[in-house]
Amino acid sequence: MTHAFFAPPATGRYALRNARAPRCLIDTPDAGALAPAGDGDLVAIDLQVADGRVEAIAPGGSFAADHGPDLDASLVLPGFVDVHTHLDKGHIWPRQANATGDGAGAAAATQRDRTANWHAEDVRRRMDFALRTAYARGVVAIRTHLDSLAPQASISFPVFREMRARWAGRIDLQVSSIAPLDIFLGDEGVQLADIVAESGGNLGCVTKSQRFPGDPMPPDLDDALARVFQLATERGLDVDLHVDESTDPRARSLIRVARTAIAQRFKGRILCGHCTSLALQTDEFIEETIAACREAGIAIVSLPTVNMYLQDRSTDATRTPRWRGVTVLHELKARGVQVAVAGDNCRDPFYAYGDHDMLDTYTQAVKILHLDHPFGDWIRAASATPAAIMGLPERGVLRAGGPADLMVLRARSYSEMLARHQFDRTVLRAGRAIDTTLPDHRELDDLVMGR
Ligand SMILES: [Zn+2]
Repeated sequence: MTHAFFAPPATGRYALRNARAPRCLIDTPDAGALAPAGDGDLVAIDLQVADGRVEAIAPGGSFAADHGPDLDASLVLPGFVDVHTHLDKGHIWPRQANATGDGAGAAAATQRDRTANWHAEDVRRRMDFALRTAYARGVVAIRTHLDSLAPQASISFPVFREMRARWAGRIDLQVSSIAPLDIFLGDEGVQLADIVAESGGNLGCVTKSQRFPGDPMPPDLDDALARVFQLATERGLDVDLHVDESTDPRARSLIRVARTAIAQRFKGRILCGHCTSLALQTDEFIEETIAACREAGIAIVSLPTVNMYLQDRSTDATRTPRWRGVTVLHELKARGVQVAVAGDNCRDPFYAYGDHDMLDTYTQAVKILHLDHPFGDWIRAASATPAAIMGLPERGVLRAGGPADLMVLRARSYSEMLARHQFDRTVLRAGRAIDTTLPDHRELDDLVMGR
């Protein structure tokens, strides 16, 4: 069962006729000449597929009826890209719920579950469930963080490498470590950097120290950050950090990350996630931080569903949350910083919900972050921009010569797309419709239920 509302022809070459797509995702020299159609930046196209790749993107009406199906103005999108996830944590919710629903409850529950349960087979099965779900949703590339405090890194990284090989050609998988910052001041940090390097991963940590758990700006911050960038430079690694995931305005690590990278003339890519407390700073400090990020070449990813879930939560059931939990994404983008949105956690103590669906993440981000009025090119934050951050130029865009890995929606406009869950999408991989039946949550019952 494909749930497809149309079936592409079985022939090697066909055209998707009378389709629409966002102009900002069409990577061809003449995209500017395509005729507007519908709301936002949508344009009318015919998209020709040959041998699993996009052969041509032509103005709507270019191809005769015998070349392929008439999509009646349906949207054609590239497969989306999830640049910040935690596939090692996913789906443990039934056996390890978050008692308080906040960040502290999430960290405590995850630590309990990790030490009790995260053997290789446990991680493997939950990761596989997540990847099959994402694939059915049309996601083409994912970066996952892996909890990396010893001994977990030596369990999870080999599982990741196995899954990356198994999923090659279907989902491009990347990895980043995540651990408390201060481990990089000792031997464990060196060992972790070596595991990351062996795995072709990104060196990552959170800007908090184990030794100063309640301190949003631990006194060893600068020393440890310098060490992270030094270890990354020595091994030729890119850096991917969890930064200032906090509602405490004293959390001001992002500018220190930027200054460290600038001071070391760091040559790799840098991605910083969350950065929520930046939204609580003065306008002057926000501008200063953004300027430093630009100079350091830092890209920023916002995790809107998870931040909104965890932050400004009260144990007082009579208090309503006031805070949206997102960083200053508009300001960052306006100043030329690469910005993305991503899914982050899924059915684990950091987020009780989620389904590895980047189209859903984008639609929720539109509403949480006001990525509308106008829609502009914000859809790139879920597609082309995370692909660029991951160094995957063929992903997240529609281009002649690129893979025909597409989502075809029944929706004809941004309005229709964002109004309704797009669960009837047709997912094409190498030009063919795949089975979009989702894995059943019951598959994991023996792993996560009945404790
Ligand atoms: Zn995260």
